[in-house]
Amino acid sequence: MEDLDGPRCVAGADQEIMRQLLACGLVWDEDVTWQSQRQEGYQKALEGLNKLKCLYSCTCSRQTIASALEAQGIETPRNQEMIYPETCRPAQIKINNLSERVDHSKKVAWRLALPKNCIIEFEDRRLGPQEENLNQAVGDFVLRRNDGLFTYQLAVVVDDAVQGITHIVRGEDLLSNTARQVHLRYLLGYQHPQYLHLPLVLDEHGEKLSKQTLATQINTQDPKSTLTEMQRAGKHLGLKNLPNRKDISIPEWLLAATQAWKIAI
Ligand SMILES: [Zn+2]
Repeated sequence: MEDLDGPRCVAGADQEIMRQLLACGLVWDEDVTWQSQRQEGYQKALEGLNKLKCLYSCTCSRQTIASALEAQGIETPRNQEMIYPETCRPAQIKINNLSERVDHSKKVAWRLALPKNCIIEFEDRRLGPQEENLNQAVGDFVLRRNDGLFTYQLAVVVDDAVQGITHIVRGEDLLSNTARQVHLRYLLGYQHPQYLHLPLVLDEHGEKLSKQTLATQINTQDPKSTLTEMQRAGKHLGLKNLPNRKDISIPEWLLAATQAWKIAI
């Protein structure tokens, strides 16, 4: 459960997610874990990276970063992340004192120093070969924010490794995050998994359906409505020759869809 940003998490949303998955016949292999309870693991990973001498503390605000970029004549398009201009990066990365991190009164963020020409390549099972130059796409990115929160990138990499995930499946909106995770996994000595990014369901404005755009949640109030929603998902994923018998059970349909999916990918 990705609940890193505590204040922004809706109470009970986790229970609702599990209820909906179960209604769709989807079960999990192990106990559910919450990112908010796994801070120690993230801290350990951060310490591991620190030993590699590739972390540095940063006190820049968004405004400072924007001004520094402006001074360099670099414009950041709206809705795009600013590429960090390395304002706080020491000339030579030295081992930082980790006790600093525990002190929340010190409002510093911890960034990962990228090597020059950090070009990451990986294979997506649906989209094929992917390549990203991390220096040009994001720059030295934050692993722990100045308010003490670990970032998504670090948390998911640690979670996936701890849970031994070999096949990572996410929405296509997260494709631009994957190169950062590949780099982190490499630094932390984790095994390389297989990646697959799924097509998104978009509204009439081309925006993905999400809680931010106040999209209606799927209807899983009864098996008939649930099956209708699942059939729509199957169609969206381009699955062919799915059974459309009215009396089919959810587990039966799911099995057929899984087999169709194996052929499609
Ligand atoms: Zn800085």
